[in-house]
Amino acid sequence: MLLTSIKTKLKLTSEQKILMSKHAGISRFTYNWGLATWEALYKEGLKPNHLVLKKFFNNNVKPVLSWIKEKGICQKVTEFAFDNLGKAFKNFFAKRGDYPRFKKKSFNDSFSINAGSKPIPIGGTRIKLPTIGWVSIHEALPHTTTKKITISRKAGEWYISCSYEIEAQPTDKKHPYVGVDLGINVLATLSYGIVFLNPKALKKAKKKLSKLQRQLTLKVKGSNGYKKQKLRISKLHRRVTNIRLDATHKATTFICKNHAVVALEDLNISGMLKNHKLAGAISDANFYEFKRQIEYKTLRYGGTVVLVDRFYPSTKKCSNCGEIKEISLSERLYVCEKCHHTQDRDINAAKNLENYARLAEPCLDVEG
Ligand SMILES: [Zn+2]
Repeated sequence: MLLTSIKTKLKLTSEQKILMSKHAGISRFTYNWGLATWEALYKEGLKPNHLVLKKFFNNNVKPVLSWIKEKGICQKVTEFAFDNLGKAFKNFFAKRGDYPRFKKKSFNDSFSINAGSKPIPIGGTRIKLPTIGWVSIHEALPHTTTKKITISRKAGEWYISCSYEIEAQPTDKKHPYVGVDLGINVLATLSYGIVFLNPKALKKAKKKLSKLQRQLTLKVKGSNGYKKQKLRISKLHRRVTNIRLDATHKATTFICKNHAVVALEDLNISGMLKNHKLAGAISDANFYEFKRQIEYKTLRYGGTVVLVDRFYPSTKKCSNCGEIKEISLSERLYVCEKCHHTQDRDINAAKNLENYARLAEPCLDVEG
């Protein structure tokens, strides 16, 4: 069994939308209370943790806050707020994340619930949430159970996400090996020449987005016009994310269904995001999400991923003879000075990744 996750849009009545906002508000309040108390205790020279804070909150704070105990409010919301705070600090201490920040009321809110020790049944286009009751969703879910449900709002729309176990669905692979070069101008290039382009709609939406952002700077902060513009930007952001995600899913499904061994460069994303000049383009090209999808889809369809060391010179190397040379970003063709091999630079890089995988996972070579 494999674990997979889904995020899909909720279809809510206006009463349900208010109820979801209340949950998000309680979650945010609890998280911020926890963070403020954590900081106060730390200043006193104490070593706080989320479990102690949770206990204190449940025994001493929650009983006097009647609005948290209102009818229809799932009481598990505060539990998860503390768990999330604990996780945020854990990541910070392990140097995997920034110092936890106070949550602000915004268009993007979220909260998590579970049914305690019992898993929540899901399936079809309706889910019965603990305390909240039945909600309709956009996309049918498989009939199974989940342990945790997260509900989030993005630009006024509500989404539900949860993870559940699935059975592997191995496919017959057309090719034993493939190298995948991830790009900024194109989404991905495969080692035998297939190219996944970035959708045209993405470029269009992004152009519009920067226009809206420029217009925002002319509005008075806090005014109605400013708020409306913010919502417009938030909606367009969602559209950009959806277009990009859709294209990424199409590419990764194709790659994982048709290739037994997928070689991918193990990019040091956090290091690259610190380089601000590259940051826009890189985060844009969605490398992290691409890698994440390849990893779980190879598992699902019965393949293997080979992550190629980020110091491996896939761009500089001749995929034919192994000669190394410098190649500038503007050069679209790789021309080898030694063996005169000439190839599109992305295909050459992808081919090098494929060659690396053939050495790393040689047992499959007999198939071709
Ligand atoms: Zn060469």
